[in-house]
Amino acid sequence: MSETTLPETAAVSIRQLSKSFDGVEVLRDVNLEVAKGEVVTILGSSGSGKSTLLRCINWLEQPDRGSIHIAGQRIGVDDAGRPMPVKTLARVRARTGMVFQSFNLWPHLNVLHNVTEAPIHVLGKSKREAEEHARALLEKVGMSHKADAYPNTLSGGQKQRVAIARALAMQPEVMLFDEPTSALDPELVGEVLAVIKDLSAEGYTMVIVTHEMAFARAVSDQVVFLEKGLIIERADPETFFTNASTERVRKFLERES
Ligand code: ADP
Ligand code: MG
Repeated sequence: MSETTLPETAAVSIRQLSKSFDGVEVLRDVNLEVAKGEVVTILGSSGSGKSTLLRCINWLEQPDRGSIHIAGQRIGVDDAGRPMPVKTLARVRARTGMVFQSFNLWPHLNVLHNVTEAPIHVLGKSKREAEEHARALLEKVGMSHKADAYPNTLSGGQKQRVAIARALAMQPEVMLFDEPTSALDPELVGEVLAVIKDLSAEGYTMVIVTHEMAFARAVSDQVVFLEKGLIIERADPETFFTNASTERVRKFLERES
């Protein structure tokens, strides 16, 4: 299919993506389509390439081969295969919102200003409009009561919920989550997963790397399993968790449950 005839509905389209570090291939010919409104979870052991795959989607890592389109727009290189101008790249990258394991909020800004910073300075929104939207998003993640608080006064779960609101404030086509609960104390995991579940119910498009199996089963439309940089299984969650076709995945699930 040519680049100009990508289906309207694909929020993310990854074709034949490969990436090496120091001569070791950590992603091998990865193909993945994420439809608008779809939730895809990526599972796999540590070192299987999950973070690298997410980081290629928003060009934090540059793939060696293959193409990635966000809502029909190619990221990283122009149609002639040349590196995109920095400004164009920033614009395409802004169509993705990323939530990391470590929340990395701006410590010198209160919660509200963490959320309004990029919409004002990158999207050129007025302060009033950005704050109105930010307050609605903080409400959505259950953090409106902390709008004036500074990050260092928040729990890990609260920080992560603010980080989610901050990413949403850019109105991305797709939200990318890289183990959003792995740095949290166990008692704080649930509140963050609940927020992500709400987003899925609202129709947000999301690609989520997680080790939370029950969550993945509940929230996914598609589950993808990476093994040494290869997608070795992809299925709807019911099939994936009850009837995986590869021995490797069945072993993984036994260990994780
Ligand atoms: P996962 O997120 O599944 O644990 P990663 O995508 O982080 O896996 O890493 C996949 C492989 O690539 C690992 O072997 C890791 O050591 C290697 N790797 C990741 N990032 C880099 C990097 N910037 N430089 C060199 N090797 C890297
Ligand atoms: Mg990782």
